[in-house]
Amino acid sequence: MFATLSDRLTSTFKNLRTKGRLSEADIDATVREIRRALLDADVAVQVVRAFTSTVRERALSAEVSGALNPAQQVVKIVNEELVAILGGDNRPLTFAKAPPTVILLAGLQGAGKTTLAGKLALHLRGQGHTPLLVAADLQRPNAVTQLKVVGERAGVPVFAPHPGTAGHEGAGVPGDPVAVARDGLATARSRQHDVVIVDTAGRLGVDAELMQQASDIRDAVDPDEILFVIDAMIGQDAVATAQAFADGVGFTGVVLSKLDGDARGGAALSVASVTGRPILFASTGEKLTDFEVFHPDRMASRILD
Ligand code: GDP
Repeated sequence: MFATLSDRLTSTFKNLRTKGRLSEADIDATVREIRRALLDADVAVQVVRAFTSTVRERALSAEVSGALNPAQQVVKIVNEELVAILGGDNRPLTFAKAPPTVILLAGLQGAGKTTLAGKLALHLRGQGHTPLLVAADLQRPNAVTQLKVVGERAGVPVFAPHPGTAGHEGAGVPGDPVAVARDGLATARSRQHDVVIVDTAGRLGVDAELMQQASDIRDAVDPDEILFVIDAMIGQDAVATAQAFADGVGFTGVVLSKLDGDARGGAALSVASVTGRPILFASTGEKLTDFEVFHPDRMASRILD
């Protein structure tokens, strides 16, 4: 995902390597190149501005240290600031003191929510949890079936509306996702599942109805985590979309999906910083095992490698 950005930054640093000492002009030139590389990678303008100004200040005031040459020093600063915009340390999932822990997934249609639901369920099952998946996406034809398939692959049960009831996709009437979410939670309680993962509907674009539905589900199940799933390939739109979900539904954490894509990756680099919410997980492919706990420091190292 970050191949181009990575190449650009590496060549910027290469130019510094021959310098014994960095003048202010050298630092300014370097910062300009970093700025261009980030903007070309679709990183949000406000993030780029804050990032480059911090890097510049730190580079100018950096002590000349015996251990690091000037180029290494700049790389170190850029690395630390990348880690910072990616959220600092990994933030683990919050579990409820009294189970079940309720995790609500929100995001645009196609962001990768349903796939993520399966990945997260498999991940949690591997840690000894007993998750239940709840199919509260009644908007998209097939979403319930898709979640059932994903649940089967993950070896995790799925709570879905019964055929013939108002919540069921084949009933010919719009279902009530709030009721499904509530019933799913009650089922989890009675069957002693310790985690409930609720998949919600997305739209192709942000709209008021989508936000209202997600908010109604949120109010009905009082989640411990609301994870906003964002397709890292959507580029500049990512920030506006994330902001709309932050304002409309609110979320406690971010999941980046499709990090395996070859897009420019700016979404991935902007969203934590713009929303002030940490990235908890990354989705890196279509298989249920293409999933990782997100570590800002590892991501920064990957970019600067
Ligand atoms: P939803 O509408 O948000 O529930 O999105 P889906 O889970 O249905 O995913 C939309 C499409 O993206 C599907 O074709 C998935 O197989 C695909 N997808 C989901 N996550 C990833 C990922 O991390 N990488 C890639 N390459 N494809 C993904």
